[in-house]
Amino acid sequence: MNPNRNRPLNLATQIAQALHYEDKKTGSVVPPIQHAATYARDHDYNIRQPFWYRRDGNETTEHAEKMIAALEGAEDTMLFSSGMSACTAVIEQLPTGAHIVVPEVMYHGVLAQIQLYAAKNRLVVSYYTAGKIEELSDAIRPGETLLVWVETPNNPNWEVTDINAASNLTRDAGAKLIVDATATPPTMTRALELGADYSFHSATKYLNGHSDVTAGALSVKNVDKDWEELGLIRKLQGTVLQSNDAWLLIRGMRTLHLRVTRACESAIVLAEYFEGHPRVEKVLYPGLKSHPGHEIARRQTDGQFSAMLSIIIKGSEQDAIRVASNCDVFYPATSLGGVESLIEHRKTVSGDGFPVHERLLRLSIGIEDVDDLIYDLERALARTFS
Ligand SMILES: *Cc1c(COP(=O)(O)O)cnc(C)c1O
Repeated sequence: MNPNRNRPLNLATQIAQALHYEDKKTGSVVPPIQHAATYARDHDYNIRQPFWYRRDGNETTEHAEKMIAALEGAEDTMLFSSGMSACTAVIEQLPTGAHIVVPEVMYHGVLAQIQLYAAKNRLVVSYYTAGKIEELSDAIRPGETLLVWVETPNNPNWEVTDINAASNLTRDAGAKLIVDATATPPTMTRALELGADYSFHSATKYLNGHSDVTAGALSVKNVDKDWEELGLIRKLQGTVLQSNDAWLLIRGMRTLHLRVTRACESAIVLAEYFEGHPRVEKVLYPGLKSHPGHEIARRQTDGQFSAMLSIIIKGSEQDAIRVASNCDVFYPATSLGGVESLIEHRKTVSGDGFPVHERLLRLSIGIEDVDDLIYDLERALARTFS
């Protein structure tokens, strides 16, 4: 290696050091938490840009935003107080009656929000089967569709949608593409580089990684009028990420690369172990060669696939619920992307009317020892079926 050559640092280095944060006065290597809700003007009565009131954002939130923008290769990133408030801002920004295209099955909260807007005639919605690019193409109305929503891999069945193919279709039709890649954080999937206009992540999940914050990260490839309006919506609705949470997010992101790599490695081991297991009907996981989206997933995730998988248990719906409650290591809790592994009977959580297999258990793999995770699931299955 030639030390005289100017070489950009890898993202793993930049993020571990919170963009090499160093306080100019004290040398502190950890950024402070800025709590101020308001900012004094200078002697000429001018605002000391860019911050003058907390709803616009502040130093702590901005630092976390810069880290995510670096990860995403984004021109700009905005952090919201939850993933849902970020998604709601995107929906809210659309003009009344806008036509949008969304997957039939997706993260249930976003789908519920879209359907609420549609029921009030504020949106016109066409659906496609997640992962089916031909259906997505058919659902787009060229010149009319304003937004196409892709979630990949898609909750809770983990279908894989080709981001690049979707972006070509969307661009040709004059629409914008938003990709919710929460299940595969930007260490592995960089949706903007694959052609998306917006990349969204519930930062509650992998970006923070410690299940102690809710946050939503929205990133943009090119700043434009729509983006500025999204900033205005965040300000007027008061949904900017708060300082303590932004600080926890900065802290959590420092170990992002390590956590994600470890969790994905374990997820593959688990998926392969339980595929073909006598008590398991099916394992849904893009990392398995049997998964129809396997090759696209490999390309889109830098070969890491994901640390999320679902298992369809043999037996009854009650058996599936009992497997979840019979675990001692996996927590029977909702959410994903934390250091601790979670198991969830998705139908109980999504509620009636949401199309999900009644024996599907969604697993979020954490950073524990993988043998302990396998042992825990085997024991839960044995307890359920003995
Ligand atoms: C959790 C999640 C959301 C919503 O984010 P919150 O931070 O819980 O509001 C949206 N999309 C996906 C895929 C998620 O997993």
